[in-house]
Amino acid sequence: MHITGQCHCGAISFTALVDPGKVLVCHCSDCQQFSGGPFRAVLPTPAAQVQLKGQPKHYVKLAASGNRRAQAFCAECGTQLYATEADTPKTLNLRLGCVNERAQLPPQVQIWCQSAMPWLGQLPGLPRHGQGTASPRLPATSPANSRAGEA
Ligand SMILES: [Zn+2]
Ligand SMILES: [Zn+2]
Repeated sequence: MHITGQCHCGAISFTALVDPGKVLVCHCSDCQQFSGGPFRAVLPTPAAQVQLKGQPKHYVKLAASGNRRAQAFCAECGTQLYATEADTPKTLNLRLGCVNERAQLPPQVQIWCQSAMPWLGQLPGLPRHGQGTASPRLPATSPANSRAGEA
């Protein structure tokens, strides 16, 4: 599948040929902290299949294992773009949030669930607004309902 993406300010953009079967959700504490969200959705893609325009800044994260991971982001707007091997990039773990086709790329697996937020399962039961809290409420959802809707 061909995708396009860009950072929020547009200084960096990319096109890529991706495998939709590779989308994953990572609940590790680094993903929570880097992304600012409760988890991160990632699309691992061979570096050779990504055409990047613009120059991301790299922050190199040193893991306890000694593994060095480059976290690429836009120096202007701070958008997280991908992570990759710090020395010789082989796979770019594209951040799903900056992929334009993200609504058509549902995650296929979850990792680092031992550090997942314990309240994620409560979200389907919370009040839902189409936009901000002043906008009309939408009908409640449940995982069972959304599965039935796809059938
Ligand atoms: Zn930017
Ligand atoms: Zn992670």
